[in-house]
Amino acid sequence: MYKKLFGFAFVVCFLAYSADLYAWRPLSTSRPTWPDGTVPFYVNPANDSGVPDDAVIESMVGGTDAWGYVGAGFNFCYQGTTTRRTIARDGFNDVFFRNETMGGAIAATYPWTQGGTYREFDIKFFEGSFQFFGISDACSGNGFYIWYIAMHEFGHGLGLGHSQFTNAVMYASARRCDSRVELESDDVDGVVALYGPGDGPGCF
Ligand SMILES: [Zn+2]
Repeated sequence: MYKKLFGFAFVVCFLAYSADLYAWRPLSTSRPTWPDGTVPFYVNPANDSGVPDDAVIESMVGGTDAWGYVGAGFNFCYQGTTTRRTIARDGFNDVFFRNETMGGAIAATYPWTQGGTYREFDIKFFEGSFQFFGISDACSGNGFYIWYIAMHEFGHGLGLGHSQFTNAVMYASARRCDSRVELESDDVDGVVALYGPGDGPGCF
């Protein structure tokens, strides 16, 4: 029923904290954040799940906007589509699908950070084992809604690790066909702690 969302060696679930004041976690002990509190990203909607481009974009933008309207000084900014679909330190934050597998991972975020500064990330959805669905589709079988998985992976993209709360979007495992489109309070606590309360700087 549960599958891992994130399969990296450096994943924060290996970190040990002596005091559990919060369930959310930063991406790493250096607590990387984006200096401007705003992150541009591009979507490559090409997929083998049969989801139309506009439905992919709707879910990716919806998943990122979920972080932008919770009273934290942070927001993502959709920049349009791209044909890029490789993990590369190329100056772009991209999200794309690949017909690949990585253990039990549904998707993965590949971050590049320097100390406490977040520089870049790419997000890959693994279609080798899983089928993805638009938010108005009827999810079934070995399926996941793109929107929910996007909320989780872009949470890594802003600097959050995995939460210990099983109902948090940032929990390390996901139920199939989870149709949630909003964050849980623990996720909101995390982004507010990293970027402070207020409104995001917006998109320029
Ligand atoms: Zn994850």
